[in-house]
Amino acid sequence: MTLAQRDQNIIWHPYTQMKTADLPVAIVRGEGALLFAEDGKEYIDAVASWWVNLHGHAHPYIAEKVAAQLQTLEHVIFAGFTHQPAVELAEGLLKILPEGQRKVFYSDNGSTAVEVALKMAIQYWANTGIPKKKIIAFRDSYHGDTFGAMAVSSRSAFTAPFWSYLFDVTFIDVPTPGNEQETINQLEAIALTGDVAAFIYEPLVLGTAGMVMYTPEVLDNLMQICQQHEILTIADEVMTGFGRTGKLFASHYLQHKPDMVCLSKGLTGGTMALGVTTCNDKIYDAFLADDKSKTLFHGHSYTANPVACAAGVASLELTTSPETQQNLERIAAKHKAFAATLKQLSGIQEIRQQGTILAIEFADESTSYFSNLRDTLYNYAMEQGVILRPLGNIIYIIPPYCITDEQLDKVYQTIKGMQQLLVNC
Ligand SMILES: *Cc1c(COP(=O)(O)O)cnc(C)c1O
Repeated sequence: MTLAQRDQNIIWHPYTQMKTADLPVAIVRGEGALLFAEDGKEYIDAVASWWVNLHGHAHPYIAEKVAAQLQTLEHVIFAGFTHQPAVELAEGLLKILPEGQRKVFYSDNGSTAVEVALKMAIQYWANTGIPKKKIIAFRDSYHGDTFGAMAVSSRSAFTAPFWSYLFDVTFIDVPTPGNEQETINQLEAIALTGDVAAFIYEPLVLGTAGMVMYTPEVLDNLMQICQQHEILTIADEVMTGFGRTGKLFASHYLQHKPDMVCLSKGLTGGTMALGVTTCNDKIYDAFLADDKSKTLFHGHSYTANPVACAAGVASLELTTSPETQQNLERIAAKHKAFAATLKQLSGIQEIRQQGTILAIEFADESTSYFSNLRDTLYNYAMEQGVILRPLGNIIYIIPPYCITDEQLDKVYQTIKGMQQLLVNC
């Protein structure tokens, strides 16, 4: 039996209808932007393995640091204890995060980073003795798959069975170009109730919504309203962090600074699961008390796992290197040039770009018809040796920063091939 067949007998995969799923592709090795399959085929990882990989697969520098850490200290309880990788990573992050972030809370992944931020926000008001309850989020947002994270995410088909178990959230529209004022008005109206505890948002790019983008100017407007009405702000930079949008963090495009930031995905360069929630002094100080009930009672068995933190320290060194900066600029420039060649082609509705993220929305007369085509497009790309996962009628590239120009050109060719497929069908 092949690995894929052994898998199919016993493993339940994420976001996968197991009844109709094809055999999974068994990957035996990775190097740079390439993944090598059991059957000898190779693939360009144009989606950075679900948006986590920054510097390429099996990166030798990260591997070296992880191996050394494994032989020194693999794990230790993080309540009452600490270790060098956790301290180093926290120091490194606070140096580059948006101004005002002062404290680092570790957890396991993006969803838990969001849970922690929500708990910090809600308990901040409880500790302060001010009864603010409402949470605001963007209607099409995605903040993770645990219950709190689902609650602040879009009420989509993915979460429908759980709706009655999710706490109430007030949704405002995503302020895409042309809709800015509408969203500002919505936030202002809700803010005036005086009952809003926090606003959580994906800054500049809503990933799972289909790489939906909006401007820093309108987000600055929204954050200003939040500040005026003492609404805590939570920047979910789980996807946008670590250079994805062209700057180290999407929040760096803004004048206003968030109270809390959620990080994961690229945090370890895509090597290991790790989440971080950071906050400013205002949040942190509200938990300081002789009264133990004001403590943030949250933690995970593997909080601040030393091996994951070591991967984080190594990845951070690579992320802040001049070479990565050059790569970010190179990819953004290439995306831009490719987008220009697409504009004249038929069947393309919209092209969006923010830094290394390029999204192409195909014209889509009938969405249900298209979703059948989703598998066709996915399979077509796989045949070409390129991993691209359409979100509905949207195809996007979010590559490892080490992807070569030649590899990028092949990804672009594959997207042009998809466009041809669509026009001809
Ligand atoms: C992926 C993602 C999450 C959830 O992270 P997981 O590690 O998958 O739990 C949260 N927020 C955003 C913006 C994401 O893209």
